[in-house]
Amino acid sequence: MAMVSAFASAMLAATPVAAMSAVPAQSATATASCVVFAVRTGDTGAAVSVVQSRLRITADGVFGAVTARAVKTFQAGHKLVADGVVGPLTWAALGGFPCSAVGSQAVATVTGISSAVAARMRYSYRLGCPVPLSSLRYLRLPYWGWDGRYHVGELVVNSSIATVTAKTFTTLATQRFPIQQLRLVDDFKGDDDASVRANNTSAFNCRKITNGSTWSQHAYGRAIDVNPWVNPYVFHGRPQFDTFTHVARTAGKGKILRGDATYRAFIASRFSWGGDWKNGVLDYQHFEHA
Ligand SMILES: [Zn+2]
Repeated sequence: MAMVSAFASAMLAATPVAAMSAVPAQSATATASCVVFAVRTGDTGAAVSVVQSRLRITADGVFGAVTARAVKTFQAGHKLVADGVVGPLTWAALGGFPCSAVGSQAVATVTGISSAVAARMRYSYRLGCPVPLSSLRYLRLPYWGWDGRYHVGELVVNSSIATVTAKTFTTLATQRFPIQQLRLVDDFKGDDDASVRANNTSAFNCRKITNGSTWSQHAYGRAIDVNPWVNPYVFHGRPQFDTFTHVARTAGKGKILRGDATYRAFIASRFSWGGDWKNGVLDYQHFEHA
């Protein structure tokens, strides 16, 4: 438990800081056991070198086209989604995340949308979106994974809620609330249905409301869908995808119940919850800061 509180205080101290490369939390976060993070094209560093050496290709620490091809081949051979991204499942198939080689990077970071992230956002950001890219922020956030380990994920939200979102997710991580995936919806080509089916937690997506024609709060980056498969959207009693498995608000992995610790973390940060809506629509995955 001491480990967790060191982890918590390190991240809480760090989250409000915008210039994240300057966060002086290295020694504290190093006690947070091991935080698994994904590596992908464009990444560099020790984790990339480990991937390369385990794939028996040149370990130069630069994740380029050769590495991406090798990862996809490996994934295809291990019945994994061949997306070229080394996430939790691919790490596991590769023999596990190299904690000792990489160390911990469990600090929430808030930055503007870089050109690399903007390029990835070509699915979620469309011409005519109600907010410019300059009003959005890219967050790297620690989270407690489905596998019972810390991970680092990504989220794009409106600049107006970037800090409060970083704080809230830091709280969720320290509470060990399990999140299955925390990836940009662009990893699912902007397809909200695909993201929901993958139980992926995401925020910004320039789209209309479900069953409507007005902009969703997601189009402003002011709404976050948390573990959407186990916290379904229910329209007049009918769940999205017609799966009734997780509609009942009983305790379950990654589920949000009114008044529970996850709910309280968001409400304390002045989010409202779709599970409290009174118009015949219940959206248990949805928190917004409108
Ligand atoms: Zn939503």
